[in-house]
Amino acid sequence: MNTLALIATLLMMLTNLAFVNPQIQPCDSTTEADKSTTETDKKEIIWNYSGDQRPARWGELSQCFVTCSNGKTQSPINLSSAIPEEGSNLVFNYQDTPLTIINNGHTIEVEYASGSTVTIGNKEYELKQFHFHAPSEHTIKGTVKPMELHLVHKNQNKEIAVVGILIEQDEKHPIIEKIWPYISLEQGKKKIPNVTINAIDFIPKEQSYYKYIGSLTTPPCTEGVNWFVFKQPIQLSAEQIKQFRQIYQLNARPVQPLDQHKIVITQE
Ligand SMILES: [Zn+2]
Repeated sequence: MNTLALIATLLMMLTNLAFVNPQIQPCDSTTEADKSTTETDKKEIIWNYSGDQRPARWGELSQCFVTCSNGKTQSPINLSSAIPEEGSNLVFNYQDTPLTIINNGHTIEVEYASGSTVTIGNKEYELKQFHFHAPSEHTIKGTVKPMELHLVHKNQNKEIAVVGILIEQDEKHPIIEKIWPYISLEQGKKKIPNVTINAIDFIPKEQSYYKYIGSLTTPPCTEGVNWFVFKQPIQLSAEQIKQFRQIYQLNARPVQPLDQHKIVITQE
């Protein structure tokens, strides 16, 4: 190695040293969106909804999470000033699934067996899981609802489509009556014998929805997520909302600035 090359190498090393923040954890590929949220990986980067790992700091917690702070189409958002547009119907083909519940430390998630799909335009996505947030993550014209349901789908090209349904307080919901008896503070996965559910029971009758391209609302905040948020909320009883909030009092990312999002609504 000649002297110039040696100096160049030394300079590069110095530059790297100066810019590597020892606090920031290297990006481990297993934390990407592909990873099942059910895994309890010891090396998992800790993030939270309050304290030092709160949403405003997610982007600083790991190199994997930089999109949380640098992204241009982050979710959730306030849904307003949407452009009315003719939209494709969401065609649900949901089957019954055995009840498997995961408390993953961030939410209560229900895992879905393969074979249930939603078709949007010419694309078919498979339902992987659904989970809940309190309060709602999306707001409609600034209004926050007590909770929000996310039905997470993926297609063969690993594109993600999330159907969001806002939850308001009113009547008790029959499908929640089947799930809630088995939820608890204890983290981990539980398979409930002899109980099946069908997520079709969540889908509102009125199918008008807001559509936009955003992100996962949890780290790593991956963008390119197709969001379909129903205009019509569904109802849970005060008791059902309370039961969830005894486990997760607050697990909603605040609304993100509207940047390069284009929001359309299928019916005003
Ligand atoms: Zn969610």
